[in-house]
Amino acid sequence: MNLILLGPPGAGKGTQAQRLVKERGLVQLSTGDMLRAAVAEQTAIGLQAKAVMSAGGLVSDEIVNGILSDRLDSPDIANGFILDGYPRTAVQAEALGAMLSDKGLVLDHVIELVVDEDALVERITGRFTCGSCGEGYHDHFKTPKVDGVCDVCGSTAFKRRPDDNAETVRSRMAEYHVKTTPILPHYEALGLVSRVDGMADMAAVAASIDRVLDV
Ligand code: AMP
Repeated sequence: MNLILLGPPGAGKGTQAQRLVKERGLVQLSTGDMLRAAVAEQTAIGLQAKAVMSAGGLVSDEIVNGILSDRLDSPDIANGFILDGYPRTAVQAEALGAMLSDKGLVLDHVIELVVDEDALVERITGRFTCGSCGEGYHDHFKTPKVDGVCDVCGSTAFKRRPDDNAETVRSRMAEYHVKTTPILPHYEALGLVSRVDGMADMAAVAASIDRVLDV
């Protein structure tokens, strides 16, 4: 089974994709992860992508289509794949269609995680983790029991992701609206789109996705 997970940043695509990997043996194809790896390895692509990514903009279609097409040639996708963060533009959606037909692959579902974006900004900008054990916390929804001390390991070092600031999150959401949502009608016309409430708790979101996939 091959699917696309769509939704703005922080909607839970990565979390749900990882669950589907574990439960269904699908492969997660996250162009964001591929680009972050290229940045970390300082490849030519990584060097080009770095500044755009930290500003919350989109990397060029040409680069992203290239890395995705290469990835689709890998034999581990035979059991099925989840596209997470791709396609993000009409050009990418068109390129994906061509790649799939060239490679003899079929798309089964497009799932859009629908979220309340003001709540999402609060959810993302308030999150922080223990710098030692990685336990997740939130300024409003889950504070440590003793202020400044991790409940799990007792560490007093906490960290926040640099891209979890309101400004970057807002620009990534704007990119989603301007460039990504216009690709939905194409998939709707093919009868592939299902919408799932991404603001429900994680288990409820998982159950809704499973209902779509198991029809
Ligand atoms: P993500 O992890 O999917 O949120 O992606 C992180 C960043 O990588 C995005 O903000 C973009 O700068 C870049 N990126 C990831 N996927 C794509 C894509 N399909 N097209 C363009 N840029 C992308």
